[in-house]
Amino acid sequence: MIEFKAVYFNGKTSRAYPVSVVFDGGTLRIRGSEGDHPALDVHIEDCTIAPPLGGTVRSIKLPGGAQCETTDTEAVSAMEHLTGRNTGMRLVHFLESRWKTAAGALAGLVLCVWLFATYGIPFLARKAAYAVPPELTEQMSRQAIKMLDRRFLKPSELDPGRIRKLREEFQHLSREIDADFNYRLEFRKSPHIGPNAFALPSGLVIMTDELVDLAADDRELLAILAHETAHVKKRHGLRSIIQNSGVFLLISLLAGDITSITSAAASLPALLAQSGYSRKFETEADRVAALYMIRKGWGTKPFQAILLRITRDMADYPGESLLASHPLTDQRVRHLREIEASMPEAE
Ligand SMILES: [Zn+2]
Repeated sequence: MIEFKAVYFNGKTSRAYPVSVVFDGGTLRIRGSEGDHPALDVHIEDCTIAPPLGGTVRSIKLPGGAQCETTDTEAVSAMEHLTGRNTGMRLVHFLESRWKTAAGALAGLVLCVWLFATYGIPFLARKAAYAVPPELTEQMSRQAIKMLDRRFLKPSELDPGRIRKLREEFQHLSREIDADFNYRLEFRKSPHIGPNAFALPSGLVIMTDELVDLAADDRELLAILAHETAHVKKRHGLRSIIQNSGVFLLISLLAGDITSITSAAASLPALLAQSGYSRKFETEADRVAALYMIRKGWGTKPFQAILLRITRDMADYPGESLLASHPLTDQRVRHLREIEASMPEAE
């Protein structure tokens, strides 16, 4: 039995009636202290106990717009406890009344969100990217190259013999690094983006005439091609656009609606044309290329040389470089040297 003093409002006038309330676990018996009004019995199921939001007054909503207000918060809490009501709001109240706990919970929440954004989203994006079927990847890549051809690229003017030789070398290279995709190498002239290469998620790699002209020998170009092949192998293009499109795309992909990837496909040309890969992906691709070069016995010097030359040369072109931008090139060259230095000496 819970008893407490309260003030009753009938919901029609502003008049306050002092009342005493008795709760027996099922029914609230409300009795006026002055005279007999009000005298009513209301089942607890028909009442709503308003959430305890920091105030010192608790109110119980009664049917028909009437309500009881009381300063006896303990009695109301005991009522709630007895009926198992407002569990959620009690937690809010509990947190409110213990701000350290609340602050701790908030910090925990922020940490969770940060962990999800930093590790969860990339992890799930990777999972989703690997689930995209080749036909869809092909279709997205075809659209992207069409758009890039329209905006930045012109037909190649390279000697056909030179093209044939590079394609042959690229076939060996791509087969060695990754057998999963149907790799093809195409050339374009690009006065806008200059010496460049980029890979579409389908395995189509585009290299500019300007890059071919800049290279001192084919090994330099093969290093770049190994780097681009690694972007395809590791699904960097798809992963980037999924990561950047937000949680909703991720959810629909993981829920099985793989075709929803096409809604994000429009961002592919921009990603490729503005070196939109994360540092992490670039480092990963550099590592694959470095290991390939070392395996071939060529070392990473040709790769370093072409990166540095592209960076120097880029000043002449209006577009951003996909391959090398100033502050990063030094770090990348250092990384390549580190990989080579960490290798056991070849005999
Ligand atoms: Zn890259």
